[in-house]
Amino acid sequence: MVKIKFWGVRGSTPCANNENMGFGGNTSCVQISATHLNELLVLDCGTGIRNLGNDIIQKKEALRGHIFLTHPHWDHLQGFGFFKPFYHPEGNFNLHLTSQPGLSCNEILQGHFSNTFFPVTLDMLSAEMKCTSIEEGVYDYGDFVVEMMWGRHTIPTGIFKVIIEDKVIVYAPDNELPHDNSENSKTFIEKFLAFIQGADVLIHDAQYNLEEYKQREGWGHTNWEKLLELTKNSQIKQLYLTHHDPDNSDVDLQKRCDQIQAEYESVYELVTLARDEMVVELP
Ligand SMILES: [Zn+2]
Ligand SMILES: [Zn+2]
Repeated sequence: MVKIKFWGVRGSTPCANNENMGFGGNTSCVQISATHLNELLVLDCGTGIRNLGNDIIQKKEALRGHIFLTHPHWDHLQGFGFFKPFYHPEGNFNLHLTSQPGLSCNEILQGHFSNTFFPVTLDMLSAEMKCTSIEEGVYDYGDFVVEMMWGRHTIPTGIFKVIIEDKVIVYAPDNELPHDNSENSKTFIEKFLAFIQGADVLIHDAQYNLEEYKQREGWGHTNWEKLLELTKNSQIKQLYLTHHDPDNSDVDLQKRCDQIQAEYESVYELVTLARDEMVVELP
């Protein structure tokens, strides 16, 4: 059995407003677990990872594993310093950050966690930490495989495909599906559609609706209309829209969810908007 837990589904910045608590105010973090996996597998270190860390400590689960970072924007790293297993002497983590021009993975993290911005620096963490940059390609970790393809965003950003037991989960929280008909865009869409084809679960950026997108083209995010139009023939079993805009309230998002389900219910086994602490079980 494979299990996915959403610990953070908000884009751009955490937003602890009362009107957002239904879908949640934590930024990107997703945990994947499986019957035969004895270590942690985490995607992104947004503020949601703080709750994940507390959960692991409370349940006395393994304090080791792999963390994949799509890119180093704040909303995908803000929880890093609040993940308690990093402060535990038994902690042992492999961080995998998509390669960024001119900076190594360690330099990026050291820059982010220098004492000007945060009281804790990397060398103060008690856990064993190894950080590697990853390029587009396929990586076999034994119990699972991760395939990375570059997404479209304001900086290099990964789309991760996790293959675990016999399930395929694609995670693309920051990815702008283009509207123009340029050769580049056409090539990208073709490659993207081949990458996601037949996935059991697709977790994808849908920060905007089409109207909002028109004001924000080139900001690196997708509108839900485009996402559904492009992926509806890809035999995706379950689709989870994520990276919700901090200015969208529960009422806005629920309305969006209802509209999508009314239009696309027959296309997917399940199509919905992700929310904090939502659990998906794939038997
Ligand atoms: Zn983001
Ligand atoms: Zn981003």
